[in-house]
Amino acid sequence: MSQFWSPAVRELTPYVPGEQPREKLIKLNTNENPYPPAPGVEAVLREYPVDHLRLYPDPQSLALRQALAREYGVEAEQVFVGNGSDEVLALAFQAFFCHDRPLEMPEITYSFYPVYCKLYGIERRALPLDQQWRVDLDAFTTESGGAIFANPNAPTAHGHPREAIATLLERLTDQVVLVDEAYVDFGGESAVPLIERYPNLLVTGTFSKSRSLAGLRLGYAIGSRELIEGLERVKDSFNSYPIDSLASALGIASLEDREHFDACRERVITTRERTVRRLAELGFEVLPSQANFVLARHSRHDAAQLFVGLRERGILVRHFNTDALRGFLRISIGTDDEMDSLIEVFELLCR
Ligand SMILES: *Cc1c(COP(=O)(O)O)cnc(C)c1O
Repeated sequence: MSQFWSPAVRELTPYVPGEQPREKLIKLNTNENPYPPAPGVEAVLREYPVDHLRLYPDPQSLALRQALAREYGVEAEQVFVGNGSDEVLALAFQAFFCHDRPLEMPEITYSFYPVYCKLYGIERRALPLDQQWRVDLDAFTTESGGAIFANPNAPTAHGHPREAIATLLERLTDQVVLVDEAYVDFGGESAVPLIERYPNLLVTGTFSKSRSLAGLRLGYAIGSRELIEGLERVKDSFNSYPIDSLASALGIASLEDREHFDACRERVITTRERTVRRLAELGFEVLPSQANFVLARHSRHDAAQLFVGLRERGILVRHFNTDALRGFLRISIGTDDEMDSLIEVFELLCR
């Protein structure tokens, strides 16, 4: 606490990201991709003309937006880019959710959403998940000031099919519905094809997980031209150049290599299914996952103790100390070797 902080800053509860350890650990705690980015990314990095860094980047990031537009079969005017999807989300909260009416979201979802509510003074209405730990789409009301959820959801890993999102959008027409697709490439179904039919749908995505570029900080939103223009208005009132020219070139190189992208996500999915089977054999209940992580709890062993036992043996996973999630561990999917090490330690700890 400092006397120099404004009253609003005193009241904030900042988001706490997963630890980035300094020691060499098997890192299964922040849903990073275990495989390297596309080879073309490295090639651009080697050859990038350093003199370009003298100049400001394109404030519109048009080349990157065009590359994303090609990838998703939309127009560049329907694409917004930001410095990580967290930034895109923050700008979207300001552009669309600062209302008198509450913003509705699942009770268990990406824990950054409540942080943004606090930052912007938005009232939050939390909706319980259904009996199977799935986002209850029927719980969203037409009276809200907006709706947001991750699909697949974090950290529960379940994803709804596109048709279910369409059914929700038939009902919610007066508010923005934001679908955060950070994990959709690991087996989910993207809602992007719905943006033509529903001008209030905004879909966000990231290069951090399925494109192995968490360190680069690139995220995006896809939606109707009016929503994208709303985001641009906020962006241009905050930071004209969120995407540096190098990040833009590297992001484009990543989008150009579909083969590498597909190979990496398929490997992650295969390893996930193998891991789920082995965790189940060890007595874990594992929630069905369409993401690059699983949420699991053991019938006899306390999650906090398992977390400590893993950590002592060089493996880092995520444990959330909240009422709803205390019993679970969230485990990112690493390489087969990393998951073998995890299972070996669990064999010791869960005897
Ligand atoms: C990781 C994650 C993000 C943030 O991704 P960045 O692009 O790295 O900022 C957004 N939403 C969810 C649900 C995530 O898990």
